[in-house]
Amino acid sequence: WEVLGKKDKEVFDIIIKELKRQEHGLELIASENFVSRAVMEAAGSIMTNKYAEGYPGKRYYGGCQFVDEAENLARERAKRLFNAKFVNVQPHSGSQANMAAYLAVTEPGMTIMGMSLSHGGHLTHGSPVNFSGRLFNVVAYGVDEESEVIDYDTVRKLAVEHKPAVIVAGGSAYSRIIDFKKFREIADEVGAVLMVDMAHFAGLVAAGLYPNPLDFAHIVTTTTHKTLRGPRGGMILTNDEEIGKSIDKTIFPGTQGGPLMHVIAAKAVSFGEALKDEFKVYQQNILNNAKKLSSSFEERGLRIVSGGTDTHLFLVDLTPKNVTGKAAEKALERAEITVNKNTIPKETRSPFVTSGIRVGTPAVTTRGMTEAEMPLIADLVVKVIENVTGDKGEIDERVAKEVSSQVKELTDRFPLYTDLVSRSEL
Ligand code: PLP
Repeated sequence: WEVLGKKDKEVFDIIIKELKRQEHGLELIASENFVSRAVMEAAGSIMTNKYAEGYPGKRYYGGCQFVDEAENLARERAKRLFNAKFVNVQPHSGSQANMAAYLAVTEPGMTIMGMSLSHGGHLTHGSPVNFSGRLFNVVAYGVDEESEVIDYDTVRKLAVEHKPAVIVAGGSAYSRIIDFKKFREIADEVGAVLMVDMAHFAGLVAAGLYPNPLDFAHIVTTTTHKTLRGPRGGMILTNDEEIGKSIDKTIFPGTQGGPLMHVIAAKAVSFGEALKDEFKVYQQNILNNAKKLSSSFEERGLRIVSGGTDTHLFLVDLTPKNVTGKAAEKALERAEITVNKNTIPKETRSPFVTSGIRVGTPAVTTRGMTEAEMPLIADLVVKVIENVTGDKGEIDERVAKEVSSQVKELTDRFPLYTDLVSRSEL
């Protein structure tokens, strides 16, 4: 930090501004989290200097003996964490993990089936603007419009009709437990590969608080930076040896070059953290907080999609307050609270406007907040939403100031990167 401050003040100042934003703001984005100092140190280490195309013991570069140790450690810890026989820890991101997973079991032009983006799926599950929608013929399923949960009969019907090569379960904005057994039965009936993208709930799986998809899926992909609280990156797991071999090939040389060894070292650190008992307590707290926060929103007149949550996230239907997701997101940002706008079932607005917001508790829980703080958070969010005055999230300056000072008071009680903060005299 001292070096960067002297050598490149421009970048240093930007990082300090972002540090202040993270330290003093209220982070409710469901896909974000705060890594430990240990994870950060590994990610910011000299491991970034090493080229290591290939895999441990079979590299295309010399001098890989120590990065081999790091990658083997990451692999072993990941296997223990998810009870998996095979893992590839090299994907640079969740999207790259998904691309390699598809290509391991399909050829471009084949059919894949995933949850539509507007019902909670991810871009990489077949959106036309993503590689997945461009390379594959896509069949999308969604949630039942009344219950707002996955309708397995419709999934089955679509699968029988379209015979996809891959069925993807999992998503970015689905708050309920997914029935992987049912998905596997459907996949078996039509001869499809079942791929579960557990990016959002991987931390819950690691803690035994969400069913382990590896018990049913042929392939499981994930990011490492959401509930799992590791560095930004991806990972692929399977119990099928043949698929495992194919995945190794589609990551390297198929879709990536040299692995990010500093990130792999940081993944190893975070998996080590996730194997500890404290991590189970942390994940349970995430769930308790999500339940309490969603019921606090309901008590304040908002509607929660599907009536609640089984996970770290939930969707808030803003229709009762006559505010769009876009306006709410902007107004909340003005009060130092970050969420993201999200479409809801039976959405009438465009994905750029939306009628809902997605809220998650992993980040505030990492700071140490508990159920006791959730009603206050709901109060602050609802106060902003009720004071939105325009389509672009305009809000009375006084209200924005009042809420942001309450946010600062709250976050000051739960400091995040304390020593970094004092060192840079924030
Ligand atoms: N899969 C799911 C379910 C996600 O929610 C995300 C990211 O939000 C991804 C994949 C993609 O991960 P990345 O942003 O690392 O490419």
